[in-house]
Amino acid sequence: MIPRTLFSSEHETFRDSVRRFMQEEVAPHDERWQEQGYADKEVWRKAGANGFLCPSMPPEYGGAGADRLYSVVLIEEQARANNSTLGFGLHSEIVAPYLLAYGAEDLKKKYLPRMASGEMIGAIAMSEPGAGSDLQSVKTTASRKGDFFVVNGSKTFITNGWNCDLAIVVAKTDPSKGAKGTSLLVVDTSMKGFSKGKRLKKIGLKGQDTAELYFDNVEVPRQNLLGQEGNGFVYLMQELPWERLQIAITGAARAEAAVEWTRSYVSERKAFGRPVASFQNTRFKLAELATETQVARVFVDRCIELLLKKTLTPETAAMAKYWVTDLECRVMDECLQLHGGYGYMWEFPIARAYVDARVQRIYGGTNEIMKEVIGRSLGLGAEK
Ligand SMILES: Cc1cc2nc3c(=O)[nH]c(=O)nc-3n(C[C@H](O)[C@H](O)[C@H](O)COP(=O)(O)OP(=O)(O)OC[C@H]3O[C@@H](n4cnc5c(N)ncnc54)[C@H](O)[C@@H]3O)c2cc1C
Repeated sequence: MIPRTLFSSEHETFRDSVRRFMQEEVAPHDERWQEQGYADKEVWRKAGANGFLCPSMPPEYGGAGADRLYSVVLIEEQARANNSTLGFGLHSEIVAPYLLAYGAEDLKKKYLPRMASGEMIGAIAMSEPGAGSDLQSVKTTASRKGDFFVVNGSKTFITNGWNCDLAIVVAKTDPSKGAKGTSLLVVDTSMKGFSKGKRLKKIGLKGQDTAELYFDNVEVPRQNLLGQEGNGFVYLMQELPWERLQIAITGAARAEAAVEWTRSYVSERKAFGRPVASFQNTRFKLAELATETQVARVFVDRCIELLLKKTLTPETAAMAKYWVTDLECRVMDECLQLHGGYGYMWEFPIARAYVDARVQRIYGGTNEIMKEVIGRSLGLGAEK
């Protein structure tokens, strides 16, 4: 394998402690969380106490001011542990950074330290029943009324939706202006008129509390607006390379883990009196998957380097998201096949990884939308 060069010994020490946390504080409860459809809030507080939430937040907002490689380690170790229950990444690496970048000082002081401690859980509510890829057509409105915005509408597919204490809501402050009339508002679940719908039953990510959110004349103070009114889309675009790279980082780490579980399984399993590993098909398949996973690893690591230098472009991040998650799904499928019937059994990690992988091609912008982004960067216009 090509050695990785991104991490220092401090990062690796941190990795060991995250790995231990996954083994000791997460794995023993995960089956129960999958059955109930959400994680206990207690694990968020434990993660916060260990410095595993919002690690890159400046210390004045409760973080450690760590570099983004610590975030990468957290994402990778959760993926390697085959844990898709905890929405830590979305909370720490998507929701909190919007607050930090665009929130008023009072808002940051109010929410960020409590997010870093795990006392409050964050969500981001963009998608609606009628608007996912086409976010410009969101129907949720935020109308000005004195010192408040009055929010009305509904959101769906919201990660951390059931457990969340606050959500960044994408709403139209001026529906006549399309994208330019879109704003981001921090809505606290304690505000009157904010309610949570049912937890959605999914084919995978079973312990992840994906939910609907409803807003019925919710009065949101004006200071909860992120940045400038009407600039919501601009802000959403700015954060996209990192958000999409996180999905690719997860995909690469999970693919590596699956190849390793499968390598070990086929060495033990016998058929026709010999290890499954001794069949040429098995060795060729694993050789192919190990090669492609290595290619993904090198590409993703290079993207991480570019991210650290703040030069990762949206189209390169889109390439990483689409290509690595397509590969991840193929790796899971081939590895499951090499497990035979046991691969279809829930107690084998590959079974869960197989169903959990599927959504990686859908959320964070579908892979078709990624190809649109890449196509446009090649100077190829969209169809009229
Ligand atoms: C488990 C899970 C968690 C999620 N978490 C969140 C969250 O936390 N917050 C949030 O806001 N959303 C979340 N989502 C929503 C997710 O981002 C959307 O599902 C996704 O963006 C796709 O939108 P859609 O479902 O409306 O599909 P649609 O937009 O209806 O797309 C349907 C199909 O049409 C294709 N398509 C659409 N437009 C084009 C085009 N221009 N060119 C080519 N093909 C196109 C799509 O690629 C897809 O194949 C989550 C979804 C899931 C399943």
